[in-house]
Amino acid sequence: MRRLSESRSRYVLFTTVSTLCWRMYCLALALVMTGTAAQAASDLIFIDGFEPPCPGAPPGVTAGSGSGLLLRGTVVTPTVAFFGEVLVIGDTITCAAVSCAGQTGANTATIVETHGLIFPGLIDTHNYALFDVFDENDWSPTQVYTNHNQWPNDPRYGALVDAKQYLNGEYGSPDDDGCELDKYGELKGLLSGVTSLVTHANPSNKICYGSLARTVDQSPNDLGADYIQTATLFPTTLSADGVCANFSSGTTHAYLVNVAEGVDQTALNEFAKLGTITTTDGCLYAPQTAIVHGSALGDPEFSLMSQHNMSLVWLPHSEVSLYGATANVPLAVSKGINVALGTDWSITGSHNLLEELRFARAYDDAHWGSVLSDFDLVQMVTTSAAHAIALDATLGSIAVGKKADLNVISANTCGAPWSALVRARARDVRLVMVGGVPLYGDTSMQAAAPSVPGCEALDVCGVSKFVCVAESGGTVANKLGQTLADITGVLTQALTDYDALNLTQWKFSPITPLVDCP
Ligand SMILES: [Zn+2]
Repeated sequence: MRRLSESRSRYVLFTTVSTLCWRMYCLALALVMTGTAAQAASDLIFIDGFEPPCPGAPPGVTAGSGSGLLLRGTVVTPTVAFFGEVLVIGDTITCAAVSCAGQTGANTATIVETHGLIFPGLIDTHNYALFDVFDENDWSPTQVYTNHNQWPNDPRYGALVDAKQYLNGEYGSPDDDGCELDKYGELKGLLSGVTSLVTHANPSNKICYGSLARTVDQSPNDLGADYIQTATLFPTTLSADGVCANFSSGTTHAYLVNVAEGVDQTALNEFAKLGTITTTDGCLYAPQTAIVHGSALGDPEFSLMSQHNMSLVWLPHSEVSLYGATANVPLAVSKGINVALGTDWSITGSHNLLEELRFARAYDDAHWGSVLSDFDLVQMVTTSAAHAIALDATLGSIAVGKKADLNVISANTCGAPWSALVRARARDVRLVMVGGVPLYGDTSMQAAAPSVPGCEALDVCGVSKFVCVAESGGTVANKLGQTLADITGVLTQALTDYDALNLTQWKFSPITPLVDCP
């Protein structure tokens, strides 16, 4: 390992091409080099055998007199990587460079020496967050299914849905813990570096969704507007026509629709039906549309998606759990389709997006011959995910003017930064910031977090962490003042109460943990 320390010049992570090619880094390298081609040649230093600092030096925070935050570390934008700084003023990134010296607010900013890898916050493009207190212990497939109409008939799954609906106050339930359910799902994301989730939470647009990680598909997303529409059931003509009208008027920028989930003809037929369900045929074959699942799709459908610049949301873990197979992502990628990665939920999918990255890595290695590089997989939870939800101008990368949603991974995991993220575990997440506010991280980073109303300590797989769950301005109605202890207490009690009703033979306590170790 050699480390560039004296000049702080921009460098590109670089070894010899032959060693880079050991694991499909040729593509990543090509993109890195393309991405930095616009830099002055003198800014580029290619060093032989570079690895990020490993093991990581101890991180720390030096308080400044101003309100800005200046993060130092290996910045992974994530299309290029360099050792440098990210300046955060308010909720926005105002500088991402080798040095931000001289930028407004830099000299009074609190300095956060991360000694880690600074990624954009991760985006989970499909996660039924209200179900995330449950996991595979509450329901697992008892057979291999061929489409999504089959498994909801399983009695134990039905009992699980009843339990979720009780907790969420649906169908006359006396309970009303939807805020806690959504926040618990957001917290599971936050502890794995996720700063935005498409949660499908219902009822929509509750104020309490506007805390912690972004419930990005609803108006309390702290982005000023919500242009994302989702359909988890196949749309009627009325609703599909409404979506096309919203495309025309500009009120919907992204339409995420569950289509072709499964592996049989029934699932496949949904794709053609999506083209004819509307009064004007084909208006949903549009760049705003992201096909969620698409595991039944083949060459003709991907060709059509490519032709219309549609996106695909890939849920490999859940699809393999349910159907024994997943979407043909190598084929989709070969046709230039934008692919984002999601968790689906922690019942049949992954408990968080880091686990989903590892699942995708292992699946590609085992079934497709490692056609997807770690660089590719990282784009699927950052830049490509942001594109699928039409927020690439705002989220998903580290660039001036973007929201300061950041995810710092400790550099204790060695190797190229993209691989370090794909291999990272929850304990490796050193700092997570949403809209410029540090909400979670190692205790060594806590001095950068808001001191009011205060944060809580928690142990994550042997690492001391802090998490700032309560917000100022909390009321009984908006629940924004709740702590992590409050939320887990409410959910634990509610599930215990539900079990005590003895409505079914199955019990659903305890709530699934926030993280799995290691
Ligand atoms: Zn799904």
